[in-house]
Amino acid sequence: MIAANIESLLRTIEPYKATVVAVTKTQPVDAVKQAYFSGLTDMGENRVQEAAAKVAALQDLSIRWHLVGHLQSNKVKNAVSLFSLIQSVDSEKLASEINRVSQQIGKVQDVLLQINVAGEISKFGASVDSIDEMAEAIGMMKNIRICGLMTIAPFFSEPELTRPIFYQMRQLFERLQKTMGKIHPFDTLSMGMTHDYEVALQEGSTMIRIGTGIFGERN
Ligand SMILES: *Cc1c(COP(=O)(O)O)cnc(C)c1O
Repeated sequence: MIAANIESLLRTIEPYKATVVAVTKTQPVDAVKQAYFSGLTDMGENRVQEAAAKVAALQDLSIRWHLVGHLQSNKVKNAVSLFSLIQSVDSEKLASEINRVSQQIGKVQDVLLQINVAGEISKFGASVDSIDEMAEAIGMMKNIRICGLMTIAPFFSEPELTRPIFYQMRQLFERLQKTMGKIHPFDTLSMGMTHDYEVALQEGSTMIRIGTGIFGERN
């Protein structure tokens, strides 16, 4: 089932040249392996602890691990040693801790800045109003590379209703790219999940994060 889901997903999104991150939270190591051998090399976890076990079990495979969930300061040390891309940086304070730890171990940590574009109280992410100042401050940290933006869009039963949010994110991304792109890679816009990835891709997503659509419903 995992292989068939991935094959059909990759066929659907072929024209967009976007990266698929298989979100493996709650999934057993064996399911991650199946995704890997079906052609996906980017895996996303939302908890540092859970990721640590899987990273250890799968260290022989060339997987790029992404942190897609909220990161607490006291988990930064582990996160920096585990993840290729931390997608959930939403404050200067958190970034500064990531920078400090990365410097200690001689790593330059790739990150995305998470934006709470609809201003939902229930979600993490920096506000649109604060993003310029935050990006500028984080942009000066020597052991961090800003690779772009990430958002978790609000859930609408009709995915089409999410289109304006994705559009707004793309505009923000392109605007910031003009300045940040001079000193950082800033080429990744991570948006779109199982329910809404088609609309996200149409609005310029470069990275979608898919859990249910690959592995089925989570328990
Ligand atoms: C769980 C999760 C996903 C995947 O969600 P699905 O709806 O199962 O595709 C994507 N992004 C984040 C941040 C998540 O926590």
